[in-house]
Amino acid sequence: MPDSAPTDLHNWAGNIRFSPSRFERPATLDEAREIVAAAPRLRVLGSGHSFNAIADTDAVMLSLAGIEPEANINILNDTVRVSGWITYAALSAAVHRAGFALHNMASLPHISVAGSIATGTHGSGDRSGNLATAVAAIEFIGPDGELRTVRRGDADFAGSVVHLGSLGVVHTVTLDLVPAFEMRQYVYDDLPFDAAVANFDELTASAYSTSMFTSWGAAPTFQFWVKQRTADQTHPFPRANWFGAPLAPGPRHPIPGVDPAACTVQQGQTGPWHERLPHFKFEFTPSVGEELQSEYLIDRIDAPAALEALARLGDRLAAVTQINEVRTMASDDLWLSPAYGRDTVGLHFTWVREYDAVRPVMAAVEAALEPFSARPHWGKLFSMPIEEVRSRYARMGDFEKLRERIDPEEKFANGFTAEVFGGGAR
Ligand SMILES: Cc1cc2nc3c(=O)[nH]c(=O)nc-3n(C[C@H](O)[C@H](O)[C@H](O)COP(=O)(O)OP(=O)(O)OC[C@H]3O[C@@H](n4cnc5c(N)ncnc54)[C@H](O)[C@@H]3O)c2cc1C
Repeated sequence: MPDSAPTDLHNWAGNIRFSPSRFERPATLDEAREIVAAAPRLRVLGSGHSFNAIADTDAVMLSLAGIEPEANINILNDTVRVSGWITYAALSAAVHRAGFALHNMASLPHISVAGSIATGTHGSGDRSGNLATAVAAIEFIGPDGELRTVRRGDADFAGSVVHLGSLGVVHTVTLDLVPAFEMRQYVYDDLPFDAAVANFDELTASAYSTSMFTSWGAAPTFQFWVKQRTADQTHPFPRANWFGAPLAPGPRHPIPGVDPAACTVQQGQTGPWHERLPHFKFEFTPSVGEELQSEYLIDRIDAPAALEALARLGDRLAAVTQINEVRTMASDDLWLSPAYGRDTVGLHFTWVREYDAVRPVMAAVEAALEPFSARPHWGKLFSMPIEEVRSRYARMGDFEKLRERIDPEEKFANGFTAEVFGGGAR
């Protein structure tokens, strides 16, 4: 994508055609700083995996992918300082070679670190915060082209990590590391809906990371994925049956009937953390996806009621959903994080790639989740009124003041941020 001429630029799903007036792909940091300083308005493209126009601009679009990414591990304080545009695939391999691990990963390792952090991207795990919670420091190229670092403990830190691309160009990110660990993955078929709802807390607590997948319909069941650290014997797997769900006899893809070859190794084979935490293998690299995605993040105490509300949409949901995934994440204090201030459950929808058919059902999902103060994923599709979204972030006003101070001319604004924060730049 970033190599293409501006007319060919699009996101991974192909549903957003980017329309910058100029596309810049510098070869050095100094060049990037000059471009930023000179541009009247500018937006950074990460790996382009967002499903909405958050990365788009009608001004300058900057990709840093032409600069060789770095990952420098500091064994004195267990951190790694990485180029913002490095992918989790490249980063996790480097970190693992040095005997370290990241605390969690998203379903796909091909996404960039800076782009993921900017949108509050997450994996799953009751005690794992989203990926942005691993950030110990973040270094921006500011509107004047100067470098500025914000560290954990600084007054601006909690506001600066999940930033929707609107506080500058992320040059480096310093991430906390943990010692490398091994994992095993098991899949259970046909977890009864009632059992999932009644035992939600026990199910999600049963391993380091869990996911529930369903295609909805009149009688929904869940495929239940368990990612267990081998050292963790709290709930020894495999069990022949888990809450009424039988152990899958072979590997599974989350979408029924799809070849599981692209999925990370299952059936209890021990392997390193970075080859089990994502659902999809590094080697599997689709450049365009036949899907759209939405996700709504709610307080985990509301998860059983929210699942019941979604089940009532039954066949309507099934008609446009390829798969729905339910994940958990720990509360954090990052102002624009969808998990801010509450232990969270993410209700994710992989839709068919027909927006006209999806849109009314997405609106019905938003109406069904309205009682639960759902926060939409910043990098996925949503249609709820922006005032509703804003009202779900207690620190929204503080973020706007921070943005005004850091970027008073709104150099890093685009149509998406104009909608979220107001302001003239589009
Ligand atoms: C197949 C697939 C699977 C996914 N799985 C998950 C998942 O498991 N969990 C989840 O939470 N999300 C998931 N997502 C969503 C994805 O993680 C987010 O959209 C994320 O933002 C993608 O990162 P990116 O680098 O592609 O960002 P982009 O889409 O390129 O950009 C996103 C935002 O980050 C900004 N940005 C990017 N790089 C920089 C930088 N260097 N400096 C400043 N701003 C920057 C952009 O300007 C933009 O505002 C998935 C998406 C796809 C397509």
